[in-house]
Amino acid sequence: MAANGLEQYEYRPLAYLHTPFVESKVGQGDNEMDEQTMDMMIKRPYGLLVEKLRASGLRPTRQRLALAKLLFENGNRHVTAEQLHTEALQNKVRVSLATVYNTLHQFTDSGLMREIVVDAARSYFDTNTSDHHHFFFEKSGALTDIHGDEITVDKLPRIPNGAKVTRVEVIVRLDA
Ligand SMILES: [Zn+2]
Repeated sequence: MAANGLEQYEYRPLAYLHTPFVESKVGQGDNEMDEQTMDMMIKRPYGLLVEKLRASGLRPTRQRLALAKLLFENGNRHVTAEQLHTEALQNKVRVSLATVYNTLHQFTDSGLMREIVVDAARSYFDTNTSDHHHFFFEKSGALTDIHGDEITVDKLPRIPNGAKVTRVEVIVRLDA
């Protein structure tokens, strides 16, 4: 590439950093970033998120990074897909609810998050992947953590042949 062309190219990532994340135009999908944009992001606050996604075997696409920033940079939290979608739109991350669902399931499948199914109509996605349990407030819909040490399960049924227990999760449902 000519030196001139290269110079122009080098300014693109800087402009990009000041532009809110937006979904690519119709038909282009969520492309992986070019190397220079990626280099800039690694040096900027996205660096840890890029590493976090890569360590879990996920390509750090723009949409994944934008959603990961909302999810992982404010301490542990429980969100529904709808809540995260609303939050994304408020932060000018233009993604569809379907994309939010897919991304949350990718994060769950790769071990970055855990899905907590509180009833047939509602799942929460938990950024805290350590062993712990939950209070579910049935009226308000809130979900809060119970430390793993605070609940002891004394008895389990016989485990079916060929299966093993991955973990035991308790949801304490509250009329509140
Ligand atoms: Zn939790």
